[in-house]
Amino acid sequence: MTAIINAVLVMKDHYIPDAVLLMEDGKIVDFGPAKKLPVPAGCEVIDAEGLYVGPGLIDIHTHADGDTYFHEDPIKCSETVLKHGVTSVLPALFYSMNKEEHLEAIKKYKDAIAAGKCKNIFGVYMEGPYLNPDFGCDKEKNVWKDAIVEKDYAEIVEAAKGFAKVWCVAPEREGILDFVKYVKKEIPEIVFSVAHSEATPEQIEALMPYGLKLGTHHTNATGTLENYPEVRGVCVDETVNYNNDIYAEIICDSKGVHVHPYMIRLIKKIKGQDKIILIADSFVADGPPIPGLEDAFDINFDWGGDIAGSKLTLDIACHNMMIHTGGSVCDVFRYASTNPAKMLSLTDRGDIAKGKRADLVFVDHQFDVKRVILGGEQIN
Ligand SMILES: [Zn+2]
Repeated sequence: MTAIINAVLVMKDHYIPDAVLLMEDGKIVDFGPAKKLPVPAGCEVIDAEGLYVGPGLIDIHTHADGDTYFHEDPIKCSETVLKHGVTSVLPALFYSMNKEEHLEAIKKYKDAIAAGKCKNIFGVYMEGPYLNPDFGCDKEKNVWKDAIVEKDYAEIVEAAKGFAKVWCVAPEREGILDFVKYVKKEIPEIVFSVAHSEATPEQIEALMPYGLKLGTHHTNATGTLENYPEVRGVCVDETVNYNNDIYAEIICDSKGVHVHPYMIRLIKKIKGQDKIILIADSFVADGPPIPGLEDAFDINFDWGGDIAGSKLTLDIACHNMMIHTGGSVCDVFRYASTNPAKMLSLTDRGDIAKGKRADLVFVDHQFDVKRVILGGEQIN
């Protein structure tokens, strides 16, 4: 058995200061204030030195580790994000990949896991293929613009069975309902997400009975608000905000470029503590920074003078979220661990509780990661 002592345990909505946590066989056995929970004799002891100890971070949506795509080198990427406290991760496949590339990437992850590697990868996030090419998904090169037909997607769905956890769709695509029904039949536990879309509230809500309960990178790559001239319409953002059952992903970069800090605070007010999910959505690009954003270390730029996703890891997103919203360490553990676990119905992780996986992250008051434990095993 291993005992963590001198910890400030981060619970869902409070702290337990001066705490002890006991773990064995990869699981949390017990925890509580040191006064009430003596360390059993013969335990290996880890001194947390007063740091916060919270549940391992769960990044449901990211493509890269800052300079490499997961599908290019899953082992390197999985190790990089693990050092940043991400004990569960869903690499995201995306709209720029053709059928063969989808199949290849899924096989690569499954092979790595079967070989005992990439212990934090627990599935994939399908960011496509049926999105709206007009909204941030490779309009010119997108190979998924044609009609949605079973012969194009059946093999991907087959390969993704039991492995894909989230499937993004643009609800306005013609034929999307048949696709959604097909995926739901093959992968009953799948969560659908609205992404890269200009769907109306009605089009989005029509998919909720099939398991749509997520808004991908909320307020990014979402559609037009034109209604009548000078009258604001409603679109994806309003639908995600309006429906209590829909979780909102947020890319929280240091400069508030993906989502303006004021907008983040508004979303927090509307969605409440339980429906915000922080994601990294890290991409690979090496263009020069846009003037004015030279010191934006967690944003990528392409060579056309545009923003090209983030360079975030989830710990940095948590730090940024604390700055932009005045939130606490406790709040951001909720957005980056408890809520994603709940959204995906993962009952074995996402908070500190007896019997849950001993996936733990030690952070200071700035959310700087000092130590990571994955399944009871010390990583760094
Ligand atoms: Zn993405």
